[in-house]
Amino acid sequence: MARTTGAIINDSLQQLLEDGEFLPDIRGEMRTKAFHSMTAILSTPDQVHKAYLRISRDDGEVVRIPAFRVQHNNTLGPYKGGIRFHESVQEEEVVNLAALMTLKNALHQVPFGGGKGGVVINPREYSAKELYLICKKYVQYFSAILGPDQDIPAPDAGTGEREMDWMMSEYKSIHPGKPYLGSFTGKSVANGGSLGRREATGKGVYFTLRYLLHDFAEAQRQWLADGSNAYASSVLSHGGRALKLAVQGFGNVGSSAALEAYRCPLLNNKVVAVSDRNVTLYHPDGLDVPALIEFAARNGRELPRDERELAESGISATLMGREEVLYLDADVLILAALEDQVRADNVDRVKAGMIVEGANAPISGEADRLLNARKVAVIPDILANAGGVIVSYLEWLQGRETQFYSESQVFEQLQAKMASTMTAVYPAWLRAERSLREVCYTHAVQKLANILYIQGKLF
Ligand code: NAD
Repeated sequence: MARTTGAIINDSLQQLLEDGEFLPDIRGEMRTKAFHSMTAILSTPDQVHKAYLRISRDDGEVVRIPAFRVQHNNTLGPYKGGIRFHESVQEEEVVNLAALMTLKNALHQVPFGGGKGGVVINPREYSAKELYLICKKYVQYFSAILGPDQDIPAPDAGTGEREMDWMMSEYKSIHPGKPYLGSFTGKSVANGGSLGRREATGKGVYFTLRYLLHDFAEAQRQWLADGSNAYASSVLSHGGRALKLAVQGFGNVGSSAALEAYRCPLLNNKVVAVSDRNVTLYHPDGLDVPALIEFAARNGRELPRDERELAESGISATLMGREEVLYLDADVLILAALEDQVRADNVDRVKAGMIVEGANAPISGEADRLLNARKVAVIPDILANAGGVIVSYLEWLQGRETQFYSESQVFEQLQAKMASTMTAVYPAWLRAERSLREVCYTHAVQKLANILYIQGKLF
């Protein structure tokens, strides 16, 4: 199982407690008390809201569907986080994901807190009309706690632009005359959404890799040349040789990340494998990613799954089982499907020397420790997949200003924000030989703890 965000927050606070340079004015018993207060505040959510949405299905049957909205922390701004429609949604998982959002926003200096929502349904088993009713009911039940300055939901697994459009429309009806464009993000562009939101997470995922291996490595060339840090040299130097990438998941995040890698003129990439819920496709010389995206767009967002479909699409690849993507001979593995994909029971078979987490928590806590021990570089979810929430923030800003940015302005701002975070965390990671995950969490917790102290909330 993935280690809970609360446990990672506690570890980070323990490290900060022992770091005399952090809040040096608080000493002795006062320091212990202040850190207990931080632990209490950050490791529990502010509020957990639960409702049973009553809807009438197409056949006339009335059902009650469990739904959650968790508001973890709003120290840095309104609660922010997606709404997931999935049959396995549980309160504990939503609380965990809400805490991750608090930390992600703190890490990237996005002025939002952390929240998350969930509805316990398999959306594939509901008609569009039933889903519309569920979206309306979700907003009706939680309307008092949502809003552009209170709590701003976005899409997550099982939801997308359509659901956000429906939800914003319901919010607008319930609150006539009030600002509504910033009440939900991830809306369609025609309905106040931002250009570039759809590709933002995948672009950001690839950008963390490119920035590390190109921009940051170039800037550190002199430091690397003196050979004093073998770990940094092994992570950063790939000597211009072709970099083989394997991508698990070919949905919104995986396909955009794969396309960025395919098109990137700065690294000599070969996307040798991609996978989805059905298959892995492999080609040692690299796959034609644009052709695969075109195929998926025409075929229910799925990859070719047999020889006939491959032949029809003119794509050259070997078909393998869906898990095989994890174990191929690749330099970089991008995990962009689901939680808990690399675990203690399969981590030994993973060969890649670098892993980028496009999905949330795709590596279990135990597997993460084993990968660290093997010196596999992991770019964690909190850093790598923040592109979605960063562009959500830009969408919220555009809604407030009713001024809309061009796609290139959006991507420029996205890259600037992520680059600023990476400039802060990459040196600390490579110089101190702590995992990048630990460095990112500590950075985020430090920021939150500092603000809590300044605001007088710790005593
Ligand atoms: P998506 O539904 O568009 O795509 C998911 C992909 O994973 C699909 O290709 C699907 O076939 C594949 N998949 C499903 N089950 C699989 C399995 N058992 N093995 C291999 N592949 C499987 O979802 P997405 O928006 O691309 O999100 C992917 C992950 O990234 C999710 O965990 C999501 O929570 C996380 N995430 C998404 C965003 C975003 O902006 N979309 C932001 C942050 C995090």
